[in-house]
Amino acid sequence: MSAKILVLNCGSSSIKYQLFAMPEGTVLARGLVERIGEERGCHKHWDSGGDTSAQLQVRDHRAGLEMIVKRLTTSQAGTAALKDLSDIAAVGHRVVHGGETFTGSVLITPEVVRTLEVHADLAPLHNPPNLAGIAAAKEFIPHAPQVGCFDTAFHMTLPEVAYQYALPRELYEKYHVRRYGFHGTSHRYVARRAAELLGKHKYAVNVITCHLGNGCSMAAVKEGKSVDTSMGLTPLEGLVMGTRCGDIDPAIIFYLAEKPEYKALKTLNSLLNKQSGLLGISGLSNDVRTLLQAAAKGHLRAALALDIFAYRIRKYIGAYAAVLPKLHAVVFTGGIGENAALLRAKAVAGLEHNLGIKLDAALNNVVSGAGRPEADIATADSSARILVIPTNEEKAIAADAYEIAVAQGHTD
Ligand code: ADP
Repeated sequence: MSAKILVLNCGSSSIKYQLFAMPEGTVLARGLVERIGEERGCHKHWDSGGDTSAQLQVRDHRAGLEMIVKRLTTSQAGTAALKDLSDIAAVGHRVVHGGETFTGSVLITPEVVRTLEVHADLAPLHNPPNLAGIAAAKEFIPHAPQVGCFDTAFHMTLPEVAYQYALPRELYEKYHVRRYGFHGTSHRYVARRAAELLGKHKYAVNVITCHLGNGCSMAAVKEGKSVDTSMGLTPLEGLVMGTRCGDIDPAIIFYLAEKPEYKALKTLNSLLNKQSGLLGISGLSNDVRTLLQAAAKGHLRAALALDIFAYRIRKYIGAYAAVLPKLHAVVFTGGIGENAALLRAKAVAGLEHNLGIKLDAALNNVVSGAGRPEADIATADSSARILVIPTNEEKAIAADAYEIAVAQGHTD
């Protein structure tokens, strides 16, 4: 019999949710509560009766989840996804930072909550709303096991040479300064899918996964396990992103801190996290669609932003090819990776010379948009496949929560 699993992704001012029937993976309902804490919030919901949208104030995450559980169980059209909240077999929570403690998804116990509270200073924007979501779910759906799925967990297999920074060792020992990496649920999901598409066991595949969304990161996956990744202690390191700078010379910060307008650390933090990346270079937008259109019309800085974005990816592909054994595939995912054929082409341009990785331009150009199918866009003689695999973090979280619910005997 199928079990209903609610997946929650609580951000600083929003809650995204999906209700799945597992193990089939069918989506029964999904929605989004946004602008939590502002004067006017919004609740969008979809179920088999179609879309609804309501504008209303949402005081906090607790109030947001209260709206969600109400909407899941009531519908004027009689299409409510649930008869009763007791039908929910488990709740899966996306949790951004699991520190070094969590190497996989876990049942959330009071002990786990305490550990997450300790990790809150590593992810001050993300872990507090995640904890608020866990507390609210426990209150409204008390019978269901709560499962935590961590963005960092998949990268806990990084070897020390990859996760240690070249900083005094006590910073790691005293303050836990190390590379953690993020987007782990997505990297794991597409790496596993790649193994299936290549007809290999999940622990027999070597791939480079490129998660390119608003935040962007890459991972080197050796025999199914993450051995390096581009994000670090925080999601700021690595690739060029929508508004984040990714890799820079850290001395830029000291240099700017001497300038009158950047004296405050807060200003610098916002500069690197919110005003840099594609937005900062182009001076136009953080949205790749806007930049592609502008570049096509001759906007030089938009074109430069896209070139720098793709160049950084290409450098990381080279670096990760160097640390992996025989590479089986480069995988593109995320809103940009799944849709922006031009950026995929730029990111792998020239890789045939030294790495033998060759794109089939015609195949690449047809993969994007509606339906977003999985595709192999490498030429037949390419040394490694180039795959486009739509990510599905929610489904991966639902699968983990289902597995734990079954182990707990909550699915009868
Ligand atoms: P998030 O990280 O918020 O989940 P997404 O994975 O949805 O973000 O990715 C958002 C990015 O994907 C944006 O830069 C957007 O412009 C880009 N994107 C979405 N659809 C397309 C498209 N059809 N062509 C090019 N870029 C796209």
